[in-house]
Amino acid sequence: MGENNKDKTILVTRASMPEYEEFIEAIKPLWDSHWLTNMGVYHNRLEQELKEFMGANYVSLMVNGHMALEMTLQAFDFLRGSEVITTPFTFISTTHAIVRNGLEPVFCDVKDDGTIDASKIEDLVTEKTVAILPVHVYGNICDVDEIQKIADKFGLKVIYDAAHAFSEEYDGKSVGCFGDASIFSFHATKVFNTIEGGAVVTPYKFIYDKLYNLKNFGIHGEELVSDIGANAKMNEMSAIMGLCNLKHLNDCIDRRAKIVSFYDGEISKTNGSIRSLLSKKASRLNCAYYPIYVCDDYKYSRDELYNHMIEMGVHPRKYFYPLTADQACFKNKYKNVGIPIARDMAKRVLSLPIYDTMDETEMKRVIDTIVG
Ligand SMILES: *Cc1c(COP(=O)(O)O)cnc(C)c1O
Repeated sequence: MGENNKDKTILVTRASMPEYEEFIEAIKPLWDSHWLTNMGVYHNRLEQELKEFMGANYVSLMVNGHMALEMTLQAFDFLRGSEVITTPFTFISTTHAIVRNGLEPVFCDVKDDGTIDASKIEDLVTEKTVAILPVHVYGNICDVDEIQKIADKFGLKVIYDAAHAFSEEYDGKSVGCFGDASIFSFHATKVFNTIEGGAVVTPYKFIYDKLYNLKNFGIHGEELVSDIGANAKMNEMSAIMGLCNLKHLNDCIDRRAKIVSFYDGEISKTNGSIRSLLSKKASRLNCAYYPIYVCDDYKYSRDELYNHMIEMGVHPRKYFYPLTADQACFKNKYKNVGIPIARDMAKRVLSLPIYDTMDETEMKRVIDTIVG
């Protein structure tokens, strides 16, 4: 670390890991039990710990965040061809999950913090609409109350893609406790990881039960297959990684919070020509990302800044560009509604490197490419 890595490229993120010895000690029992997957002891322990951590009714662990979302949509058993109102300003997984369920995405514009603009949802509701699928993008909490009001008015389900928002709280509740279900990603690049992994949080037992079947080939008991499922179970190694990482989560977030406040201070020196996109609406911000918005009066365009940073050995990411609606696989296939704010943001955003092991030299190297 430090001196030796002075010229090494700083990547946008770096996976959080427990101490090597801690993990090795934790996985030792597997060499006695030989039980490596299929809802083992550690899978069940992590589910229980996450349930308590989030104050959730039901938590179903999954092999990854994408399958968590895909299976949640399947579990609600929506009629094929139905419409789901969603955001194009997200990781491609969100839109894939809708389309792979035979549902049709209807893209709604976003607000200037990147979350879905609740005031524009109602105009998009038709008799085919069955659900709203918003994303707490960058950990910025959506307008959950307004969204719920619209859902109640039209009898729609609300399923949150909370992949970015693990451990956050809003209005005195865990972020997972809004809507009919929330999905989390525990991918290596997320603020809390199980190497690969994910979870569904829901208030409903029937959804939890359905997911239990779906993630294990639809098998219900030893001889009955009741659902057309797939394989989306979390294995024991991953669950143990999660149990270890969960113990250190608060420390990791504290370290990230210091980086966020350093970046905030430095970015403010650009006199508004660059602004942070963190809304800080959550009462327990997880500091998973540090997205910036490049304004017209900044000396570089977003793409010029991106190229300049890469030249300087800092690798930010254009999250989220292009919009999912503009990707080759979806372009011009769905209802064309105006999404001007999302389009503008996609052209101007950049996510800066942030990870719990980032040291001061690295923080300064990132900022030096932007300020000054
Ligand atoms: C990471 C992510 C996913 C998918 O999660 P995986 O665990 O990588 O499958 C879904 N939605 C969003 C917004 C994400 O960032």
